[in-house]
Amino acid sequence: MTPKAPKPTAGGRPDPLGFLADEIEELKRQNLYRPMRVLSSPQAAEVVVDGKKLISLSSNNYLGLATHPKLKEAALAATREFGVGSGAVRTIAGDMTIHEQLETELAAFKHTEAVLTFQSGFAANTGVIPVVAGENDLIVSDALNHASIIDGMRMSKAPRVVFPHKDTTVLRELLAEARANGRVDAGGQPYRLILVVTDGVFSMDGDIAPLPEIVAAAEEYGAAVMVDDAHASGVLGKNGRGTVDHFGLHGRVDIQVGTLSKALGVLGGYVAGSRALRDMLIQRARPFLFSTSHPPAVAASCLAAVHVLLEEPELIDRLWANTIYFKGKLRDLGFDTGASETPITPVMMGDSATAVRFSRRLFEEGVFAQAVVYPTVALDRARIRTIVTAEHSKEQLDRCLAAFGKVGRELGLISG
Ligand SMILES: *Cc1c(COP(=O)(O)O)cnc(C)c1O
Repeated sequence: MTPKAPKPTAGGRPDPLGFLADEIEELKRQNLYRPMRVLSSPQAAEVVVDGKKLISLSSNNYLGLATHPKLKEAALAATREFGVGSGAVRTIAGDMTIHEQLETELAAFKHTEAVLTFQSGFAANTGVIPVVAGENDLIVSDALNHASIIDGMRMSKAPRVVFPHKDTTVLRELLAEARANGRVDAGGQPYRLILVVTDGVFSMDGDIAPLPEIVAAAEEYGAAVMVDDAHASGVLGKNGRGTVDHFGLHGRVDIQVGTLSKALGVLGGYVAGSRALRDMLIQRARPFLFSTSHPPAVAASCLAAVHVLLEEPELIDRLWANTIYFKGKLRDLGFDTGASETPITPVMMGDSATAVRFSRRLFEEGVFAQAVVYPTVALDRARIRTIVTAEHSKEQLDRCLAAFGKVGRELGLISG
């Protein structure tokens, strides 16, 4: 078949992008179209969405730091002192004392030699992977790793193999095979680097990577490990240091990626590891080299967030108390919460039409919880994704649970 000629628009000019509108219609027909909801309030336990006041179960603001007075004050003070923009990429003229101080304190916090910050966690992953892994190397990746890891691998010249989600038996087999056979494209020469990459906490299921087993397998075959702790930063480990601390694996994970955008409440990503890793990223990581650094207010409020993690550990205690309460009550109601072990609790719906309807009904009942559908998750694994925070009161969680019960019975997902 020959492609159709562009459709004429109202003005008579053929529209070369006319296919986009057709594709959007098709997404809507399949319940896979996601409109954006607009907040007109701060990001908090209660939000105003499209003009309606709701309890939110949709943010990654685990500890409520997005509106913490110490972070806001730090942002305001840095803005007064240094202005609103950094004016350049770090390597040209955009490296300020506040950027350096944030990295020094983050490295001490993570118990690593050095840290380099990026504009986002997404930029950190797409920055670090192509720098460490090239054509002489191999990347071994969990099947459910985050999109930014996948894009980072796509930008790398290294070949990659995927192991089934959390399956360390297959991971071990792949590592053994890679060490035994070497590079197929280069007459069996050994790989310079084999890099095992995993999310620390998986963002759609809320389960935790089997990091001790991954590290043991990697050590056995001389591979390096990279963990992306976006959803573990500020959530797992002492004072929220992440999965490496949670499992007591300090010194045995070569690359830790973290985010400053979720529990830390602001925006940014970072890579924690050796001094040589940081130095090389400064020379080569493209999102770092070709994109302007954080405004002073962002760096200053991230630094304040690290201080809050150290000074107010009760926030993390409250987050976990709320998590255990909410997850337990959802299960008591009869919902399938999948494999979740963290404050991310998916409520499984199966098909996307049910998930979209469920979310719409929750909205009417005063609860803001988004449906997650294909391609973010598999077609038959559509879900409502919930995240409780330290800020939710028991009364707010109970109101959410009542809404889940009511809508669940209405749509026949639970009985009673
Ligand atoms: C959210 C997320 C990121 C991206 O972090 P940002 O700071 O929001 O860009 C990266 N990796 C994982 C696993 C995530 O969940």
